[in-house]
Amino acid sequence: MSIVVQKYGGSSVADVEKIHRVAAKVVATRERGHDVVVVVSAMGKTTDELLGLAHAVDPSPPRRELDMLLSTGERISMALLSMAIQKRGVDAISFTGSQSGIITNDRHFDARIIDVRPHRVEDELARGRVVIVAGYQGMSYKREITTLGRGGSDTTALAMAAALGAEHAEIYSDVDGVYSADPRVAPDATHLPELSYDEMQEMAESGAKVLHAKAVEFARQHRIAIRARSTFLESGKETVVHEGVEPGEQVRAVVGQKGLARVSFDDGGEKVGFALGHLRKAGVVSRDLRTADGRTELLVVTAQTPDWEKNAKALRADFGATIEEGFGAVSAIGGAGDPALALVETLAGEGLAPTELIVTPVRVTVVLPEADTDAAVRAAHARLVG
Ligand code: ADP
Ligand code: ASP
Ligand code: MG
Repeated sequence: MSIVVQKYGGSSVADVEKIHRVAAKVVATRERGHDVVVVVSAMGKTTDELLGLAHAVDPSPPRRELDMLLSTGERISMALLSMAIQKRGVDAISFTGSQSGIITNDRHFDARIIDVRPHRVEDELARGRVVIVAGYQGMSYKREITTLGRGGSDTTALAMAAALGAEHAEIYSDVDGVYSADPRVAPDATHLPELSYDEMQEMAESGAKVLHAKAVEFARQHRIAIRARSTFLESGKETVVHEGVEPGEQVRAVVGQKGLARVSFDDGGEKVGFALGHLRKAGVVSRDLRTADGRTELLVVTAQTPDWEKNAKALRADFGATIEEGFGAVSAIGGAGDPALALVETLAGEGLAPTELIVTPVRVTVVLPEADTDAAVRAAHARLVG
């Protein structure tokens, strides 16, 4: 019997009524004759609320305890979904990440999956049960509970799919796939029926939260297709992320990201090396490290760094860093015709002056004041994709 791995995000299990609707979808899949593994996220905004609680106690909470706290969100939804499925007369069992055999490194809050040993999952499937796996969490080789970074339930789904030999993973959320920009920001964004792993990973790393970057990386490594679909919208659309999609002439998508802090060092010497070592060890999430004229700069993604306050202090005091907060970034992904000039011109025409331009072979990124991010996404999308 073929194995289907389905992942339902937070908005899909936000309340009891939705949990029952998801249970009905799972049961229907089971009745089509598949073995079904379901990965769930925490209900609605639970993870944000738990993070808020932690920050109310300590603005830079210890990451180990944060993981103990945050991992409870998915425990709630996995148990409730299992109950809802069993109520429909179908046998089901829920497992935490550690029970599912998800082994990670010891980087709390942003752990990486290093192995999956899904023996209990396989045993329960063999008994004819639907298995519900708590997303976003695992256990380190030191036997500590870890979480996989915000949005990490997608990665749980791809890791389970790879370990169980599934051909694809179905990722259900409140959108019927990946669009050429976040449809909440750019309402005229167009649906993308397929994307290459490269393009999707670049989008995710640039801040598109529709799929988790590490999930795409997993999918690419194990050659598993990702099918992004809507849980409740019956549009019939989906986005398939897989191999062999030719890069297009035109820009594929425009992605915005907020909450960036610019960290710079005046000299490119030894001190910078130590500072970068500190950032890596502390688990500070950053992007676009670059050096020019002896100056080193990078962008810290503060929303993914729960103890940013403490780290910012250390960077200033111990490593002489200059830190400016309140930036956003807008990235144009793909496009053979070097979209840098068109992007800068468009933004200038709208009075949205970028403070910086970063060009890579697959993306052009502008850094600008955070408050201008959404307007810049709309303008860039209209000019480069629309
Ligand atoms: P879930 O909680 O189900 O994991 P997420 O909120 O993580 O769902 O991801 C879905 C959201 O991603 C959408 O509601 C949408 O606003 C946002 N999003 C950002 N960029 C894109 C994009 N390019 N295409 C589609 N959705 C996007
Ligand atoms: N619940 C976690 C989060 O909000 C993981 C996820 O939803 O994928 O980040
Ligand atoms: Mg998500």
